[in-house]
Amino acid sequence: MIPAQLDYVRPASLDEALRILVDREGEAKLLSGGYSLIPLIKLRLAQPALLVDLQSVPGLDAIAETDDALVIGARATHRDIHESAVIRDRYPGIVDVAGGIGDPQVRNWGTIGGSVAHADPASDWPAFLLAANATIVCRGQGGEREVPARHFFVDTFTTAIEPTEVLTGIRIPRRAAGVGGAYQKLERKVGDFATAGVAAIVRIDAGGTIVGSGIGVTGVSASPYAAVDAESALAGKRPGDDAFRAAGQAAAAMSQPVSDVRGPVDYKRAMVAELTVRALRRATERALAFNG
Ligand SMILES: Cc1cc2nc3c(=O)[nH]c(=O)nc-3n(C[C@H](O)[C@H](O)[C@H](O)COP(=O)(O)OP(=O)(O)OC[C@H]3O[C@@H](n4cnc5c(N)ncnc54)[C@H](O)[C@@H]3O)c2cc1C
Repeated sequence: MIPAQLDYVRPASLDEALRILVDREGEAKLLSGGYSLIPLIKLRLAQPALLVDLQSVPGLDAIAETDDALVIGARATHRDIHESAVIRDRYPGIVDVAGGIGDPQVRNWGTIGGSVAHADPASDWPAFLLAANATIVCRGQGGEREVPARHFFVDTFTTAIEPTEVLTGIRIPRRAAGVGGAYQKLERKVGDFATAGVAAIVRIDAGGTIVGSGIGVTGVSASPYAAVDAESALAGKRPGDDAFRAAGQAAAAMSQPVSDVRGPVDYKRAMVAELTVRALRRATERALAFNG
């Protein structure tokens, strides 16, 4: 289909982008990689009067570690993230996520900020950001605010970001000794969205006890969720399949999948349980091997 008539601007600064969003509130839509928005516009499921392209706004694609966080700019593409030296060196769970999104073309253009703002219920980044207790950085004309991922994903395609704000980046707690993460995704075929996806982060102390964990689940509910019951089930346990299976059951019990071409409800629940076990196994191996 051919898109409806629209205007297009490419602001050269964040301030200019924010000004346009305020002046044209209700009419303007931000454009990042375009891999979710352009198909919607072509199908006329979205009909913004104005596209505000962020590609000339400087400073939005940096990836850097600070004293307490890994900070990923909103316009970092999935490929930038997958190939980042600091991420490949220290955050293998993030490599799992970035490398499994779509196909090379999607990874070349799609951005983490676009994915997070779009909030597709089957997208991969939210699961990891929930597990990692990340925060989403949003900037409006009044300044910056940080929204915990656990409060950001409100519903299907709905987030806590305001229409006059730009998502500028993601802050993931800096990895410490004894911490490991992993992401496991089931897809119908390579390049597909997740039938189910589970991200796990574990923190294991010197005595070999799980002292902290995060489990994020995607694809099996109206919005990705933190499996808090699974996290509680892991607290104070020794890592191993008994603890992991209990966590998997708890994560699956919180899911609300629908039956569709990707499988019936019971199958999807069983997959959440199994993916949780696999993600926890891998996260644990990585936690035990990481000394900071
Ligand atoms: C064939 C195909 C396969 C895919 N497979 C997967 C997959 O396996 N897993 C997965 O997770 N995703 C998948 N995707 C989605 C892909 O990751 C998209 O790139 C991503 O969801 C959107 O990022 P974008 O940069 O393209 O955003 P856009 O399409 O440019 O924008 C998406 C939405 O976010 C808003 N937005 C963008 N940037 C900002 C910002 N900085 N601040 C506020 N709002 C903003 C836009 O206004 C729009 O509403 C796939 C897409 C395609 C086409």
